[in-house]
Amino acid sequence: MKALDPENFNRHIEERAKSVIKDYKLIEPGEKVAVGLSGGKDSVLTCYLLSKFREDFDFDLVAVSVDEGISGYRSNGITAARKNAAALDVELVEVSFKDEFGLRLDDISSLYRSSCIPCGVFRRYLLNKTACSLSADKLATGHNLDDEIQSFLMSFARADFRRFTKFGPKLDKIHPRLIPRIKPLWKIPERDVGIWAVLNNVDVHFAECPYSYKSLRAKMKDHLNRLEGKRPGTKLAILESFNKTFKFDKPTPEIGECERCGEPSSLRVCKACEMLEDIKARDDILK
Ligand code: SF4
Ligand SMILES: [Zn+2]
Repeated sequence: MKALDPENFNRHIEERAKSVIKDYKLIEPGEKVAVGLSGGKDSVLTCYLLSKFREDFDFDLVAVSVDEGISGYRSNGITAARKNAAALDVELVEVSFKDEFGLRLDDISSLYRSSCIPCGVFRRYLLNKTACSLSADKLATGHNLDDEIQSFLMSFARADFRRFTKFGPKLDKIHPRLIPRIKPLWKIPERDVGIWAVLNNVDVHFAECPYSYKSLRAKMKDHLNRLEGKRPGTKLAILESFNKTFKFDKPTPEIGECERCGEPSSLRVCKACEMLEDIKARDDILK
């Protein structure tokens, strides 16, 4: 097998991310972008690309790490996040579930079928709140092509059609304090992200989260990888099918403020507050 030329491979990755940023107008000149930096390969590549593009596209960059409180896992990711942010000269802001919600994910994992449920709700909440407090205009995440297809198929399998409006490389601004998310790796397969990290000897945290095996996402990921192995190109074909099939005007949901915490929410009480109340009622962790 022919060895990969790191220079060509890197250029290819950069061009794909750049074309998504340009074609979908992910970033406007003068904006401030907050990038979620967990220390995993996807977030490190996103941070690397954005730090490289910041002069060309004329924007400011800051990174945010969220410590969910997962023993034996997250602290290694945070170490990698600190090293990469320092190497790229990007300010890193660190926040945690413990400081914000008074709990660690480990404390509440037994209360849920999958720990990813509370983890996702609290992390999205905290990333948005932190990005907003940093006056960011956009919140960049490390979602790659595989993540996007998995999310699409998971929503499809659950008949959760409202979630279809969340797909695509950029979300619209629907509330002054709901920072629109952008996904610069939208067209980059997960495999290529891993190759990039190995080829360039980047210090990333490769370990899998100890809770990930229970999630529907993990099962979908295995299934898609098997399909892709048998029929290369399947993943890209699914993304193309989604793009061509679901060209609808995105309805603008009514977004107000949570009556408990004041953060943007389409519900009277936001998901994070509802979950915290539920946890308090079921457990003595927060009492
Ligand atoms: S795999 Fe699930 S529990 Fe682990 S960090 Fe991701 S969302 Fe959280
Ligand atoms: Zn709330």
